Amino acid sequence: MLEPALLPTPLVDCTDEALARAGIELRLKRDDLLHPAVPGNKWRKLGPNLAAAVEQGHTRLLTFGGAYSTHLRAVAVAAAALGLESVGLVRGDELAGRPRNWSLRAAEAAGMELAFLSRTEYREATGRSGAEGTPGPDGPAVLQRRWGPCLVLPEGGSNALAAIGAAAIPAELTDLGARDVVCCPVGTGGTLAGIAAGLPSGARALGVAVLRGGAGYLEDEVARLHRAAYGREFGNWRIDHAHHGGGYGKVRPELAAFAERFEHRHGVALERRYVAKLLAALHDLAAAGEFPRGTRLTAVVTGLPDPV
Ligand SMILES: *Cc1c(COP(=O)(O)O)cnc(C)c1O
Repeated sequence: MLEPALLPTPLVDCTDEALARAGIELRLKRDDLLHPAVPGNKWRKLGPNLAAAVEQGHTRLLTFGGAYSTHLRAVAVAAAALGLESVGLVRGDELAGRPRNWSLRAAEAAGMELAFLSRTEYREATGRSGAEGTPGPDGPAVLQRRWGPCLVLPEGGSNALAAIGAAAIPAELTDLGARDVVCCPVGTGGTLAGIAAGLPSGARALGVAVLRGGAGYLEDEVARLHRAAYGREFGNWRIDHAHHGGGYGKVRPELAAFAERFEHRHGVALERRYVAKLLAALHDLAAAGEFPRGTRLTAVVTGLPDPV
C-alpha cells in the first residue's frame, strides 16, 4: 500500500458570516493532506486499484491523461512506490517534441514512460472512438498489442474499485445524518459515486461539475459506476451543472478573487480547477437559498494547488 501522510484526514469548520446568516454550516474534509504526491481523491481512488494490480500479479500500469493531468502524476508516483512500471498515454502528439511542462516532468521523474497520442489515437486508446464517445471497436486490443500485459486504468482513474476507495471518505465522517450534504467537484464522477455509496441513510451527496456540457453524461457515468461497484443505483445524490464557470480549466477573475478571499480568511490554499469551483458554487447556492436552514455542508478538498 501507498502509505498515507494522514488518515483519517482532518475535518475543519469554515462557516463564514454569510453562510451563518443563511443558517448553513460549512466544513472542509481535508483530503488534500492525504499524501504530498498522490493527493486527495487520487489516493482514495488508486488504493484499491493498486491492491488489485499487485494481487493479480501485474508488473505494469497503463493510463491516460492530458498535459497537466494530476492523475498521471499520481499513477507515476504510486506505481513507483509499489515497484510497478507505469506508462502514461498523453493527449496531444504536438507535445512530443517540446520541452516537458512541470507536470509531465514530474511523471517522468517518478519513472513513468510517456507516449504522446494524436486526438484521434487518444480517443481510440481510451475506448471513446465510437459514436458520442462510446467505446470504439478496438481500443483495448490496440493497447495490448503495443504495450503488452498491463493493468489499464481509465482516464481520471474512475472505475468500480475507485468508487469503492472513495466511499471511505464518508466512512470517516461519523456524525452524518439527515441535515448533511457531502459535496465534491466532479471531473469523471468516480469520487462522487463513492461518496454517495458510502453515506448513511438520510444524508445526501452533491457534486459540482467543473466541465461544460456534462449534464446527462456525468449522471450516466455515476450510475454506471454504482452498478459496477455495488450492483445497484443510489438515489441520494445529484450534480449541479450551473457552476462550471466556462468549462474545464477555466478560472474566471470572479473565481480567482473568491479563492483569494477564502484563502485569506481560512488559511487553506485552494486548488483552482476543482476545489475553488466547488466552494464558490456552494457559497453561491447557499446565497440563492438552495439549502434549507440547518443544512450542514461538508466539502471534500479533493486535491492540492499546482506548484508555483
Ligand atoms: C482529479 C480531480 C477531481 C476529479 O474527480 P473525479 O473522481 O474524476 O470526478 C476532483 N478534484 C481534484 C482536485 C482532482 O485532482
